[in-house]
Formats: sequence, C-alpha cells, structure tokens
Amino acid sequence: MATVEYQRIGKSFGAFNIMRDISFQIEDHQFVVLLGPSGCGKTTLLRMTAGLESVTQGDLLISGRRVNDMHPRDRDIAMVFQNYALYPTMKVYENIAFSLEVAKQPPAEIKRRVEHAAEILNLTPYLQRYPKELSGGQRQRVAMGRAMVREAAVFLFDEPLSNLDAKLRAHMRTEIRQLHNRLKTTTIYVTHDQIEAMTMADKIVVMRAGKIEQMGTPDDVYDRPASKYVADFIGSSAINFLTGVVVADRGAPAAETKAGLIRLEPSLKVSTGQRVICGVRPTDVMVDPQGSIVARSLLIERMGHEAQLCCEGPEGQFLAIVDKSTHFDERTDVRFSIAPEKVHVFDATTENRV
Ligand code: ATP
Repeated sequence: MATVEYQRIGKSFGAFNIMRDISFQIEDHQFVVLLGPSGCGKTTLLRMTAGLESVTQGDLLISGRRVNDMHPRDRDIAMVFQNYALYPTMKVYENIAFSLEVAKQPPAEIKRRVEHAAEILNLTPYLQRYPKELSGGQRQRVAMGRAMVREAAVFLFDEPLSNLDAKLRAHMRTEIRQLHNRLKTTTIYVTHDQIEAMTMADKIVVMRAGKIEQMGTPDDVYDRPASKYVADFIGSSAINFLTGVVVADRGAPAAETKAGLIRLEPSLKVSTGQRVICGVRPTDVMVDPQGSIVARSLLIERMGHEAQLCCEGPEGQFLAIVDKSTHFDERTDVRFSIAPEKVHVFDATTENRV
C-alpha cells in the first residue's frame, strides 16, 4: 500500500515547458482521477509517475521515497495502457504471467497469482485463448490481470476504456471500481471523460494547460466548481453561462443578464456593478411562467426518462432538462426560474468562482 506525493513538479520537453508547479498528495487506498482535455498534461504526469518520462522539476515521492531517478521496475507500480499492450502470440495465461516470469518468480507462485487474478477478473475460462480470440472487455481485463499479479503498491491507468463502446465502458467502469474496493490499491487513473471521473474517483484532479485547476471529491467539483472552466468540463449536459452585471434587488444581489434577472444568494460576496458569469446547470433550470429568464425554444430531445429542451438564448444555446411529457411549440419564448443557491457565480474577468 502506498501514498504518492507531487511536490512542485514541472516538466519541459526541450525548450517547451508544459507543466508547472504541480503539488498534491494521494493518500493510501485512494482512487484519484486526473481529468482534463487533450493536451493538458495528464498522461505526461502519469508517465512521470511510472518512470517512463523524466521529471524536470520538483520531487516525486512514492510512499515517502523520492523516485525521480528510480528505474520504473523499482517503483513498485503497475500500469494499464489504453491499447492494453498484450502480446498477441501469447495466450492469456502467459500474458498475465509474463512479468512474473521475467522477475524469475517460482513456477508455483506464478501459477497461484495468475489463477487468483483470473478468478477475480472472471478470466478463468479464457486462460488458454489468444488475445485475438477475446472481446474488448476481456482484453481489458487481461491487461488489468497483468497489473494485478505484480501486487504493486500503485496502479496507474492511462485511458483504459477509450477503445470500448459506450455500453462496455459503463460496465468496465463498475468492474474497475469494484476491483479497487476489493484490492484497495492506491490508483491513479487518467481520462478525459468526466463521467468516468465522477463515477469512479474518490478525488478528481482537474487539469488545465499543465496546471491543476481544482482538486476535490466528485461532489466538490460538481457542486462548487472553482472556475468557469471546471463548471464547463463537469456535468453530463453542458452548463449554461449567462453574463451579467450585479445589481441590488430587494436587498439581495442579482445579475442583470441579457436573458433576464438572475437572483443570487444574499451571502454572496459580490459588489454592485461587478461583471459576473452565471453558470446554471440544465438540471437546475425550471420552466416557470413567472420566471425572470427568457429563451426561445428550438427543439426537444427526448432521452427516454426525461427530455432536454434546447433553446436559443441571447448568448447562444440554453438547455433545460424537463419532464418527458412536456410539449413546446418551436420558436416560442419560454420563461425559466433558477433557485439562487443553484447559480454558480464566476467573476467575468478572472473566471474564478466568487
Ligand atoms: P491526451 O489525452 O491527448 O493524451 P494529455 O492531457 O494526456 O492529452 P499529454 O500527452 O500529457 O496530454 O501532453 C501534454 C503536452 O505536452 C501537450 O501539449 C503535448 O503536445 C506535449 N508533449 C507530450 N509529449 C511530448 C514530447 N515527447 N515532446 C514534446 N511535447 C510533448
């Protein structure tokens, strides 16, 4: 079992500095997801942890030991790659056993560990098959089995589900998290998929252009996004943003936007005249004939259990999740209300949460 600590980590490729001042700690048993769009540096940070990429600045500690200059095989980590990296000419058993053979483990110990991993991963019936004879999900489980038998202190996953179709991804998400609940191995998991992050992580590290934008539990980043960037990245239907100026409305602050007046929480630290961006999740918007926000209906997307009303607001698309039986004529003005405590307010200049 292990902790991982990043102390002011920086990374340059030649003259290009791509990462600065990354500091955070992963506790023993924690499942941490590095989340961010393509190019934000999450894979590089994972590869530095694995020892596949050098650390240019700062200290990287695994279980309190500085590992910056330590060879990957001495770091007590196991990595699962996006493309699984299975050996096509080896059967499943041999693929899982390979690292143990290289490490010259006794044959009886190799057999015990491979069979144990296969049992946990439901791979026992497939041990004598070749990777090409397996489904994508089974291949993914073999890749996990290879990591598991090494009994490493830290598991590193690099977008392990991106080659799978949507249904299998959802299934494997549950399997990986269940495996973690069982083994409790400290895990770092890289993805650009916010649903994976929200459903699997104990803690999410949201990255942006080589820096940490926010770190917290899934609830923290969803309920209290630290910036417009995080609010935009997290959430299944895209959050609505409305720009406005703070005014006083019956003793409480409100934002005067082009779509209408948005009442804000009385305790919010804003000043009259301040330019703000109000973030409102489609699930928090209510159709309300008395509401102060107006947008023009375009179409309703039926999603089975609910529907998404797509509107055109003064600042572009405006979405609301509505009851599936709701009907709206196209191109009519619809009024909405939003509870003040559901409005995420960001300063328009810094785009940080107020
Ligand atoms: P993706 O999801 O697309 O893999 P990422 O968030 O994992 O994205 P990285 O692969 O870590 O991002 O890359 C971060 C930045 O570092 C990018 O701007 C990338 O172009 C740059 N980079 C990565 N590897 C190298 C390299 N070997 N030489 C130069 N620049 C690199």
